[in-house]
Amino acid sequence: MVEVFYSDHYIFPLPHGHRFPVEKYSLIRQGLVSNNIVNIDHLKPADKIDKKDLYLAHSPHYVEGFLKGTLEPKKLKKIGITWSPQYVDRVLASIGGCLQACYSSLEFGFSGLLAGGTHHAGFDEGEGFCAFNDFAICCLKLIHDKLAKNILIIDLDVHQGNGNASLLNDNPYITIFCIHSRKNYPFKKILSPHSISLEENTGDQDYLNSLEQGLRPLKNKNFDLILYQAGVDVLKEDSLGNLSLTAQGIIERDRFIFSFARERNIPLALVLGGGYSKPISHTVKAHINTYKVAKNIFNF
Ligand SMILES: [Zn+2]
Repeated sequence: MVEVFYSDHYIFPLPHGHRFPVEKYSLIRQGLVSNNIVNIDHLKPADKIDKKDLYLAHSPHYVEGFLKGTLEPKKLKKIGITWSPQYVDRVLASIGGCLQACYSSLEFGFSGLLAGGTHHAGFDEGEGFCAFNDFAICCLKLIHDKLAKNILIIDLDVHQGNGNASLLNDNPYITIFCIHSRKNYPFKKILSPHSISLEENTGDQDYLNSLEQGLRPLKNKNFDLILYQAGVDVLKEDSLGNLSLTAQGIIERDRFIFSFARERNIPLALVLGGGYSKPISHTVKAHINTYKVAKNIFNF
């Protein structure tokens, strides 16, 4: 049994030509069905997160200001997506779907959200298309509700998860492993003990070696859950990334992560993360490949 959640049923307005790849979400959902990777009955519309859960990771001023659209214009602008009530609904559904994917993976071993990975959002502000930090909210809720004790975040988006680090580095129950590009947004990085910064145009082999070496110290630790941000903006065709992985390199990357979880019987919840190729078809295909690999390893 597998459940995959989506939030693209909440549509929000974006100016024409905006850099946020709003079209990719429904294309991935349709591609998973047409390629027989996820049965249409197993795709579930995400429910909006309970607003009170946002306060687990964010300041009351920021939460209320974003929900009502009354934040300082500078802060609204920093998020990078024009505020609208419809955008608020989409954000809440995306975080709600992340939490549902966590619950579902704890029950069935694997689940996914066809959105999410909003790792740039910090305590009192959002940035880089991230309004609230989904992993932080979900981790803190699961730990608070005693549904998980030790959680491993694996963040392989090309951009460094500065929000994850600022919100969670001090939490003894959460471990962050991330590999990102050193010369890429965000330019002020907040590293975690298991962060790896790679140089531009690293390519598949060096990337995969870093992945294997970087995860080695964590392989005998007991985790109750892995949250995996499988951003495909590491792809060589990406317009906002520069690590130059091939599509096959990303397949090998994902196989390594899913096998790591499966061999240790650790439930894994997958979110999409970034992907900005032009045309967007390279990105969509890479995200679909991630699910193809997951299907093989988790047998759904
Ligand atoms: Zn990214």
